Amino acid sequence: MILEKLLIKIALGRTLRSIKEDPLLKESMYNHYLPQEGYTLVYNHLTNSIGRIMNQGELAKIQQTLEQGQTPDSPLFASLARDGFFVDDTWEEEYAAEVRYISRRYSSGLDATILASEQCNFRCVYCYEEFKRGNISEAVIDAFIRYVRKNLRSYTSVALGWFGGEPLLAAKEIERISTAVMGLCAHARKPFAASMTTNGYLLDVPMMERMLRCKVFHYQITLDGLAESHNKTRVLANGGPSFERIIANLRAIRDQVKSLFFQIAIRMNVTKSQIPLMEEYAAFMAAEFGKDPRFSFMFRPAGDWGGERVHGVKDELVSSLDAVYESLLRSEAKLNYDINLSLMGNPTCYAADQNSFILGSDGTIYKCTVRFDKEYNHLGRISENGDLLIDYTKLNRWLVQPAQKTEECAACAAWTLCRNRTCPAKTFDTERTMTYCGYERESLDPVIRLMDRSNSDYIRVYG
Ligand code: SF4
Ligand code: SF4
Repeated sequence: MILEKLLIKIALGRTLRSIKEDPLLKESMYNHYLPQEGYTLVYNHLTNSIGRIMNQGELAKIQQTLEQGQTPDSPLFASLARDGFFVDDTWEEEYAAEVRYISRRYSSGLDATILASEQCNFRCVYCYEEFKRGNISEAVIDAFIRYVRKNLRSYTSVALGWFGGEPLLAAKEIERISTAVMGLCAHARKPFAASMTTNGYLLDVPMMERMLRCKVFHYQITLDGLAESHNKTRVLANGGPSFERIIANLRAIRDQVKSLFFQIAIRMNVTKSQIPLMEEYAAFMAAEFGKDPRFSFMFRPAGDWGGERVHGVKDELVSSLDAVYESLLRSEAKLNYDINLSLMGNPTCYAADQNSFILGSDGTIYKCTVRFDKEYNHLGRISENGDLLIDYTKLNRWLVQPAQKTEECAACAAWTLCRNRTCPAKTFDTERTMTYCGYERESLDPVIRLMDRSNSDYIRVYG
């Protein structure tokens, strides 16, 4: 509560700042420029906005004028200042960034990721899950609903994330929980939202309509390239292929589901053999989904996320996405990459957030959706009457373990917003002195260029 009051005070300070008359202005310390042929792209880490500045000469003049301690008088400068690329000289941006970081970590909304089913109809070659359990039990469903009923007054909103295994194996359980929690939120007039990470195999149109009724508006579905490569890594539990059915589902959703409210992020877990096929993949996806803004695209290296299965594909793992982006930038295909912008704006994983937890199908409470085998990730369990019986010492370590400011971090514009904690699980590694920027930093420049090439609506054009 004290923290919330503090944030309100600082927010008021921000309002006072903007009504000062004729303030001197300075360049935002969070600006990141990407000169292109004939224009310059600018990204601001703090506001997460992107601009395309068409007049490079005028930009240089603005910067020179500011260096001489004068205020430039040009429409371009006025527009860039309006959008936060130039700020009041007395505005302490680092504090603003600090506040943004803290308010994200200590948000007053409940963010519960639910392992609706810990079984899966796939056996992906890099998957770390062990499939020891099945669908979420009735007792855990009741306990979770009781938890929300008893604690909703302390939260300003509820966000449910459906995860697994494969969550759609437990569609009925998802509906039962969603109906109850949506009802509680509606009664208490609190916003409700939901997202889902699914392999997409069961997401046909009727299933999609059921999930939309549960307000699942954000989906992440993995396609590891086109049929040949996808079917090598994303294998059905019975050993069969999965690409054709997922694509058929996505096409049907594109053509038959009229709602404009949902977003499907199509993720690729990149392995070595997919890289030469990237242009072909982009061309195919652009032809299928390039004109539908509800579908967007993101890339991650397939990694050693634990478990035994990944040892079979160790030689296929890549550590960088550089080659992927080079191919995509070479390709003529225009895809929607906007999903990456929201990831760039909040690079720290939800595991660092106070009100974020993972509910296992058996009622175990975790913090991270990857390191299920680690003791530090087992916070406790939910009791039958809906109380979280958790080890607060463990929880506190997830929340406040000290950030490691490496030399690279000291020189990085994103430090205040990142603190080398993009993956808080890594803070449990002993003697951690390395820099871990996560994929957002690595992807920043190519993603901005790709968004620019696709004429993303998120890019403001400054004449
Ligand atoms: S971890 Fe990377 S992105 Fe984060 S502050 Fe350090 S250098 Fe910057
Ligand atoms: S804490 Fe790290 S490993 Fe766990 S889900 Fe977050 S980013 Fe992934």
